[in-house]
Amino acid sequence: MDPKEMHPATLAAQAGGMIDPQSGGVVPPIQPSTTFVRDRDYAPVNPDNTYLRYHNEAVRHAELVLAGLEGGAEAMLFPSGMAAIAGLFRTVPNGGRVVVQSGIYWGTTQWIRDFCTRRDITLCEVDASDLDALSKACAEVPAQLVWVESPSNPWMKIVDIEAAAGLAHAANALLVVDSTAATPILSQPLKMGADMVMHSATKAINGHSDVLGGVLITREPGSVWEMIAEDRGSAGAVMGPFEAWLLLRGMRTLPLRVKQMCANAMAVAEFLQDHPAIETVLFPGLPSHQDHALAARQMPGGFGFLMSFVVKGGAEQALRAAGRLNLFHRATSLGGVESLVEHRPTIEPHSGLPEGLLRISVGIEDAGDLIADLAQALGQ
Ligand code: PLP
Repeated sequence: MDPKEMHPATLAAQAGGMIDPQSGGVVPPIQPSTTFVRDRDYAPVNPDNTYLRYHNEAVRHAELVLAGLEGGAEAMLFPSGMAAIAGLFRTVPNGGRVVVQSGIYWGTTQWIRDFCTRRDITLCEVDASDLDALSKACAEVPAQLVWVESPSNPWMKIVDIEAAAGLAHAANALLVVDSTAATPILSQPLKMGADMVMHSATKAINGHSDVLGGVLITREPGSVWEMIAEDRGSAGAVMGPFEAWLLLRGMRTLPLRVKQMCANAMAVAEFLQDHPAIETVLFPGLPSHQDHALAARQMPGGFGFLMSFVVKGGAEQALRAAGRLNLFHRATSLGGVESLVEHRPTIEPHSGLPEGLLRISVGIEDAGDLIADLAQALGQ
């Protein structure tokens, strides 16, 4: 069966359906060679492979699965999510203009600010979940790129991707969506008009907190896509074969993991929203969330595994609760099978987050155990 015709569960479980032609293995082999031989007439023995920086079997295989899951034409893997973001932004010409959502992953914001300063690029930061504000930012002067993150980390805002694509295209810009917290299982921005999607594959796509990776997926290849590909090979921002192999293995259970994480997160959010020690729960699955209706439309398969909540009593009480948790590991990152908790204001102290905000990434453990852990930590 053509991988393009497979449903996500089949595509992921069978890693694109590839059987190793030499051994018959149902698991692909790892080929770690950095270079590939030519025959006596100087033709490459396998025209797809010359040197590992340009050609990597395991990376190609993982990219095929990722492009299929996201409904895109092609995917490009990078050694981290930030390398994928940098690969994209490096295509913006010096003196250009970009529109970037505010209140997104702090590492992205910091890097983009610094990059734009160095390259004399005008950076317009805007709350893209507010379409009027996004519309104004796009209408001002043409831009090369509109960058949004949905759901946003850690504010958990949802961007109307179809509307954002219309606004970006009217400004002659590409719309690129960081869909890390949604995964390709819950949301497919390319089908809503986005030009490219980016994921930190370090998160739920790999899912086991043991691979660093990033991916860009395009609706159709074009000049910007070609520039990124050229730069990735020449500048060497490539993922190694071992990581790509592990990623393929991790992705086999992606739909199952995401389903369980979503169910657990929903149960946890419902518990937290009624808890007297909690001021607010930011989770798009709750009807009280400002973007709930939009999230239900854009993420029909579930609302994800990431959420933030504000503990009454500020940083002191939030850190006290985090310190008492036994199952949630106090660690950065998200999307793994194990649940994590992070006091984000400690990590991004001047970004305007409420001092009592804790962000949790809900894993695949028993939901009752997770809720009991939160209950004892919050002291009720
Ligand atoms: N985008 C989001 C939403 C993230 O949460 C992260 C990392 O936390 C990144 C991008 C960067 O990815 P990486 O850590 O793989 O470089």
